[in-house]
Amino acid sequence: MKIAILSRNPKLYSTSRFVEAAERRGHEVRVLDVLRCYMNITSLNPTIHYRGEELSGFDAVIPRIGASVTFYGTAVLRQFEMMNVFPLNESVAVTRSRDKLRSTQLLARKGIGLPVTGFANNPDDIEDLISEVGGAPLVIKLLEGTQGIGVVLAETHKAAESVIQAFMGLNANIMVQEFIKEAGGSDIRCFVVDGKVVASMKRQGAEGEFRSNLHRGGTATLIRLTPEERSTAMRAAKIMGLNVCGVDMLRSNHGPVVMEVNSSPGLRGIEEASGKDIAELIIKFIEKKIVALEAGKQHY
Ligand code: ADP
Ligand code: GLU
Repeated sequence: MKIAILSRNPKLYSTSRFVEAAERRGHEVRVLDVLRCYMNITSLNPTIHYRGEELSGFDAVIPRIGASVTFYGTAVLRQFEMMNVFPLNESVAVTRSRDKLRSTQLLARKGIGLPVTGFANNPDDIEDLISEVGGAPLVIKLLEGTQGIGVVLAETHKAAESVIQAFMGLNANIMVQEFIKEAGGSDIRCFVVDGKVVASMKRQGAEGEFRSNLHRGGTATLIRLTPEERSTAMRAAKIMGLNVCGVDMLRSNHGPVVMEVNSSPGLRGIEEASGKDIAELIIKFIEKKIVALEAGKQHY
């Protein structure tokens, strides 16, 4: 197979692991900087060009599109789809997962456990918004945030009020969430491939930090999931329409609550914690898909 990886940097851990795993299994791989791909959008012959060359012959594409390039990156991914190249995750699903509010609404509609979450636009509604989610302490999140940046814990009513006012004053989109204190600064990352949880880890925030992101100094350890956690992760992945994703949840007093479904989950933490070759599992999944698509001559 010929596989394209859309990534800004071939040296990133996850990108290099995909290259290694694919080459080891005899595939040809190219890492493409998504921002250097340009396109010709015609109905009969859509093409993608890269530094003067027309790209062709790819069987599959692995999108590793950073949050800051979601708009352009998903357009490039869509162009691959128009050329009948199998996407590890579809562009619509990537776009969907990048919008925290939209994802939360979709998951809520299907009955997935979530922290109580509120959303408002007008400063006049702040008081009501705070009481709707159960009052302080509460968590305020910038919708555009990632890696824990833009996630704030407001411990008192006054703090919550002023942080929300400040964000609104900057015209930032935010959501306000019940603080799951009992999670104790840890969360659970379930790594889903092809509808199944293939590995999971517990991430614990640094001392005194309520955010457990590895980028914020958190540490990862292996964890045993409860059946409810496992099925929640599988259902969340299905609802989001992602073949590969990281489902992040908190252990709350009212069962597992999902915070986020990440369409480009990092491999380092989960491979180190689980000792599993997740990159290879994903390449094998792509192989299986391509064989099935060719047998059925179906478009993905
Ligand atoms: P990001 O997408 O930026 O990582 P998250 O929503 O995943 O943002 O939040 C970052 C971290 O903050 C989570 O991994 C979790 O440890 C903590 N956190 C987020 N929301 C809550 C909450 N409602 N209650 C308790 N902790 C939370
Ligand atoms: N991009 C990383 C992931 O999704 C973030 C990990 C983290 O900061 O915890 O796995």
